[in-house]
Amino acid sequence: MGRMVAVIPLARCEICQGKGVIKGIFHTMDCAGCNGAGLVDRQTCEALSPEVMVQQLRVRLNRANRQVEQQREQLERAGLVPVTGPAADYQGNNKRGAGGAHLTGD
Ligand SMILES: [Zn+2]
Repeated sequence: MGRMVAVIPLARCEICQGKGVIKGIFHTMDCAGCNGAGLVDRQTCEALSPEVMVQQLRVRLNRANRQVEQQREQLERAGLVPVTGPAADYQGNNKRGAGGAHLTGD
């Protein structure tokens, strides 16, 4: 996980309203506008490749986890919250990195 990734500004996909799927008459399908990610490149408004999107989402997830951890520590120092919770679960998963990826067929 040492590799640095340049953060690409992302925006919500307007075609699917950020859901990543389009509800058809008979079934739901992946949104073609964002490759099912629900997010697009903010500058080009185009979908990112799956590899790049995974990187971008990982960067954001790691950052969000760090923020949750920092806030939890602040609250703990203030004596306001218990030590366990959803954030603690995330910390465990986080260490597995890309190997813990979950793939779904299509
Ligand atoms: Zn979309």
